[in-house]
Amino acid sequence: MIEVRELTKRFGATIAVDGLSFTVRPGRVTGFLGPNGAGKSTTMRMIVGLDRPDAGDATVGGRPYRTHPAPLCAVGALLEGRAVHRGRTARQHLLGLARTHGIPARRVAAVLALAGLTEVADRRAGGFSLGMSQRLGVASALLGDPAVVILDEPVNGLDPDGVLWIRTLLKDLAAQGRTVLVSSHLMSETAVTADHLLIVGAGRLLADVGVEELIARA
Ligand code: ADP
Ligand code: ADP
Repeated sequence: MIEVRELTKRFGATIAVDGLSFTVRPGRVTGFLGPNGAGKSTTMRMIVGLDRPDAGDATVGGRPYRTHPAPLCAVGALLEGRAVHRGRTARQHLLGLARTHGIPARRVAAVLALAGLTEVADRRAGGFSLGMSQRLGVASALLGDPAVVILDEPVNGLDPDGVLWIRTLLKDLAAQGRTVLVSSHLMSETAVTADHLLIVGAGRLLADVGVEELIARA
């Protein structure tokens, strides 16, 4: 479970996140929907401790992300700008992450298969298409078998096969009882993948609503 309370972040005169409060429950896919610039990435970065809030706080399973004994096992996140060493192969990248985070090396083959990357595992990640890079990002996020999965715009750059893959994957992760938070600026995408929606605009929460309820109301 993710709990966000009165989370606030400013960049100079811009209020990126403006007193956001919400809870993300396990066992369902929660879509984090809003236009570009609404504050989704900044919120996700604060949840995983990559940005420091100006006010408020975020906890995962009752604790701030940074205080988890094995952060990558608590939360798997795909966030923009997570660097992959371009000269390394996909497998080397994952083995490096596994070593750094104390994750058994056998997880590498498992997440390569899950991401549909087994055949390209020994190619340099620098030559990957955007879609393959997204798949590697998702594989990295899932490496530690995390209870909480946070993906920022995972559909970006994916081809139609990739889009179907991510939809199925998200539903499977939720069915396994994980907490899944996935951002998108596309209502059409979130409507098919998510069970629950958090809609944001200008750093504020506009709606916290079940997808079925929303459709019934429309
Ligand atoms: P979203 O993910 O919904 O597109 P972001 O969280 O990326 O939104 O951005 C929210 C607002 O904060 C935007 O106005 C953006 O320009 C600004 N912003 C985000 N990161 C930075 C930063 N590092 N420096 C300055 N402004 C930022
Ligand atoms: P940097 O690249 O900024 O030096 P790291 O990549 O080592 O830092 O990670 C910074 C924090 O993010 C660490 O707490 C680490 O556990 C976490 N982290 C790193 N990669 C991931 C990932 N793919 N998913 C979730 N958390 C990650």
